[in-house]
Amino acid sequence: MAHDSCFAWIVGRFKAYAPVVETDTFTYDSPDLGKEVRLMNAVARFRPQAKERILFAAHWDSRPWADKDPNPARRTRPILGANDGASGVAVLLEVARVLRKSGTPIGVDLAVFDGEDLGTEENPSGYFRGSSRYVEWIGEDRPIFVILLDMVGKMDLNLQWEANSREQASNIVDLVWQEAHELGIRNFKSTPGPKVFDDHIPFLNASIPAIDLIDMSFPEWHTTADTPAVCSPQSLEAVGAVLVSLATKASFLSR
Ligand SMILES: [Zn+2]
Repeated sequence: MAHDSCFAWIVGRFKAYAPVVETDTFTYDSPDLGKEVRLMNAVARFRPQAKERILFAAHWDSRPWADKDPNPARRTRPILGANDGASGVAVLLEVARVLRKSGTPIGVDLAVFDGEDLGTEENPSGYFRGSSRYVEWIGEDRPIFVILLDMVGKMDLNLQWEANSREQASNIVDLVWQEAHELGIRNFKSTPGPKVFDDHIPFLNASIPAIDLIDMSFPEWHTTADTPAVCSPQSLEAVGAVLVSLATKASFLSR
């Protein structure tokens, strides 16, 4: 099925670039889907032996229902998720390709989470399944910090300080915004943004510093119009350039 073949494709790309790729399969009993679903996470590890590690992550699942679609007839259809899902994965795959060539002075993990978007108002436990699982799965093997990418592909991307990130991991927000500023990347705005509950929350709840790069001003959110037509490669490049710079310089270790 499409879920399996998409995951196999992502893992295949990871394996082309990273020395170690690990996967994890688990289940979630979804009341909204009326069945138990099999979920899969994957992580590509660069410098797998390094003790000091950072984590960049995104969700690879796409919402099974376009419940915000303006056309009620389409609200039971799945979304394509070009921005809400695929944009973050696209950036991670390109970062992997670049890191393979550049190498990194520290351990860098690139993770893709399943089951981010299976929640509903009635069953909010369907959200953040993959990230919650990942936090348990890594145990004491904790990253220095986590940068989550979600909806980073829209045209004219404006990344503001997501409120949970700013409240609970302000030093990482400052680090990332400073890096973007030094690179002359203008998509990172030094203004407070909305509070978003996303895959960074399970990490924050485990006292792991984690921030969410997200632009919620996206009218196509959870509609069938979330397609590549409303995305821009420039936005993906801007975010990827900041991550590559952070991973390859690792200047935060001496700060
Ligand atoms: Zn979503």
